[in-house]
Amino acid sequence: MSLVLSGMEALGYGIASATERPPELTGGAKNTKIVILGAGLAGMTAAYELSKAGYQVQVLEARAFAGGRCQTARKGFKHTDLIGHEQTCDFDDGLYINVGPWRIPYHHRSTLHYTKAFGVPLESFVNDNDAAYVYFEKGAGPLAGKPVRKGEIAADIRGYTAELVAKAASAGALDAPLTGLDREKFIAYLVNEGRLSKDLAYKGTEGRGFSVNPGAGVNPGPGKELPPYAFKDVLDSGAWKVLSSVTGYEQQRTMLQPAGGMDQIAKAFEKRVGPMIRYGAVVQKIKQSPSGVTVAFKDADGKPGEVTADYCLCTIPLSVLKQIDLDASAPFKAAMSGVAYAPVNKIGLQMKTRFWEEKHHIYGGHIYTDLAGINSISLPSTGWQGEKGVLLGYYAFGGEAAKISAKTPAERAAFAVAAGQKVFPEYADNFEKAFSFSWHLAEYNLGGWAEWGETGRKDSYPILCEPDGRLYLAGEHLSYLGGWQAGAIESAWQQIGKIHARVSKA
Ligand SMILES: Cc1cc2nc3c(=O)[nH]c(=O)nc-3n(C[C@H](O)[C@H](O)[C@H](O)COP(=O)(O)OP(=O)(O)OC[C@H]3O[C@@H](n4cnc5c(N)ncnc54)[C@H](O)[C@@H]3O)c2cc1C
Repeated sequence: MSLVLSGMEALGYGIASATERPPELTGGAKNTKIVILGAGLAGMTAAYELSKAGYQVQVLEARAFAGGRCQTARKGFKHTDLIGHEQTCDFDDGLYINVGPWRIPYHHRSTLHYTKAFGVPLESFVNDNDAAYVYFEKGAGPLAGKPVRKGEIAADIRGYTAELVAKAASAGALDAPLTGLDREKFIAYLVNEGRLSKDLAYKGTEGRGFSVNPGAGVNPGPGKELPPYAFKDVLDSGAWKVLSSVTGYEQQRTMLQPAGGMDQIAKAFEKRVGPMIRYGAVVQKIKQSPSGVTVAFKDADGKPGEVTADYCLCTIPLSVLKQIDLDASAPFKAAMSGVAYAPVNKIGLQMKTRFWEEKHHIYGGHIYTDLAGINSISLPSTGWQGEKGVLLGYYAFGGEAAKISAKTPAERAAFAVAAGQKVFPEYADNFEKAFSFSWHLAEYNLGGWAEWGETGRKDSYPILCEPDGRLYLAGEHLSYLGGWQAGAIESAWQQIGKIHARVSKA
């Protein structure tokens, strides 16, 4: 039974989760002062829970706003990257792009704990849409370089595969593992799965759509099913590669998003811990003594300041922390270099009509491409049938992201629009404005998220999960939920639990 339960826990189906709610910090804070570095979700989670438990909390945040990576660009949002490109978002009122986090899995119970507790309204995030196109140029055959609906590829490859296996099973070629009734059931499953005809052939399915849609009245139209693509063409296209995109642990077909932008989560935290945050305070030095921690910072006017506390919880990304004068042991400092941070680009493109809905009947989801620097184009899961919309013009990583981010914002937009035009003929004519963001060029992040390799996870990661003197680290980088808000929140929960246990013992 315990094996079954732990297996279920690992799959996220567990009935009780250690990561479902914050630790209970009972027993008193004993006038303990904690300085928290960074007002992202890890920092604000810690500030919220520690202050509720009676701790005296001060947060130092380099930016002029809280949320860290949990940002949403809308009218008036400003960003200057490390190359010096300045942008002010000029989207129409009500339109926005989540330049950082944008979707929440159902099993991120820690993130959902706070959206529920703080009353942040959620809506569905369409993470998979059979009507959306796949655009693969690098494949071969007639489907290469042609937008093809994902549902058509899915139906065809599933159908042809089912046909092959059903015919083999029926001819006795699969008899080794299957006999008698099992074989019958298996063939029945394949017929059902692949929508096969009685002769076990795949001839298409109405799920792919009709050339003339059924309608009302006495003349509903011929309702002819669209013919399937040839098996070889589907295989040659490479478009089937996208079909596993929602079969992993992290991605599901339907996910969640806060209505009005992901930063609604940050704002909900800020409402509760805002008075504890000192904005524009760029941490420059962290010094420890046997009795406390002193953090030196530069304020928004460039003036130096200092905060002393009993403990420090630092949520500054390791990519940035590595460059700060830090009083920690040599192994701890060395461990900070055991991780790389991912270059990540996003661009929001404001379109004057929602042509993807009006002309192509695609409501949300992703257009997967093999276009370098684009990767995917995503259609908004909000504002359905409105007049305008902001779509995500690229979501690219690694070297390709670095190449595009070296361009000016106008060049990035032109690049994204030219690529999108290959999929939607209406793209360029509808394009109005853009806002792009490159996380590796964001001064206080220097990368989208921590990417631990095997050696780093084994050798460096455990060192950083433990305190060094009076210094504790937290953030998405100290979790196995890297690149997710839940990682930041749960890491904060873990570390404040440790601080509290130490304070309680002292
Ligand atoms: C493109 C992208 C897509 C993502 N998609 C998703 C998603 O769909 N769903 C999801 O749940 N998560 C997603 N994430 C991950 C999620 O955004 C992060 O895991 C989470 O927000 C990290 O929180 P944090 O508190 O650990 O770090 P941060 O949010 O980075 O907070 C660190 C804080 O430290 C501050 N700081 C840095 N240097 C200093 C300094 N010297 N002095 C003072 N303060 C400093 C920063 O300004 C920042 O506020 C995505 C992230 C990115 C970049």
